[in-house]
Amino acid sequence: MSKHFNRDGILFVVSAPSGAGKTTLCDALRQTPDFVYSVSCTTREPRAGEIDGEDYHFISEEEFRERVAAGEFLEHAEVHGKYYGTLRAPILCNLRKGVDVLIDIDTQGAAAIRQYDDAFIRRALADVFIMPPDLEELRRRLTKRGTETGTQIDIRLKTAAREMELWRDYRYTIISRSMEEDVQKFRQIMGAERILSSRLIIA
Ligand code: 5GP
Repeated sequence: MSKHFNRDGILFVVSAPSGAGKTTLCDALRQTPDFVYSVSCTTREPRAGEIDGEDYHFISEEEFRERVAAGEFLEHAEVHGKYYGTLRAPILCNLRKGVDVLIDIDTQGAAAIRQYDDAFIRRALADVFIMPPDLEELRRRLTKRGTETGTQIDIRLKTAAREMELWRDYRYTIISRSMEEDVQKFRQIMGAERILSSRLIIA
C-alpha cells in the first residue's frame, strides 16, 4: 500500500568559528534552491562586497534594541562586540509550509534554539558544527581575507578556540577539509534529515 507523506520544514543550523569557511560553504549551498537561507540582522559594518538584505540586514544598535523589545528575534546574541539576531517570523512561516531553512549562527545562538520553549522549533532543528583544521590555519585564512584588523583577528581567534570546544553539543560535526568535501557532507546530512522517519507525517 502506498502512502502519501508530508513533513514540516527542517531548521538547519550551521555554526563554525570565524574563518572556518562557513560563509563560502553557505554560499555554495545557496546555489541550489531546495531550502531558504535566513538573513540575520546585525549591527556590524558591511564588509566590501556584502549586500544589505542578502548577506545581512545591516541595522543600527537602536533599531536592533527596538526589534529585540518587539520580540522579533528567534534568538539574538552579541558576537565579537556586535549584535546579531535571527528573525522569527520568516522562519516559522517557512517551517510550517514544509520549507527547509538554513541559518548560520554562532554557538550561543545554536544553544538558544536547542533550549527554545516551542517544541515545534526544537523538533525542526538539525544542527551542524564545522570544525576548522586548527587555529594557525584560521589565523592564516583571516589574515588573507584582510577584512579585520590584527586586534579583531585576535578577538576572533579567542572566540574560535572557545567555540571549538562545543562541537559535541551539535548533532553533526563536519571536519573541514576542502570546500567541495564540506558541501558534499552537508548535502548528505540534509538528505538524511529529510528522510528521518520521525519527521514524516502521513497525509
Ligand atoms: P560575521 O561577522 O563574520 O559575518 O559573523 C560573526 C559570527 O556571528 C559568526 O559566527 C556567525 O555565525 C554569527 N552570526 C551571524 N548571524 C547570527 C545570528 O543571527 N545569530 C547569532 N547568534 N549569531 C549569528
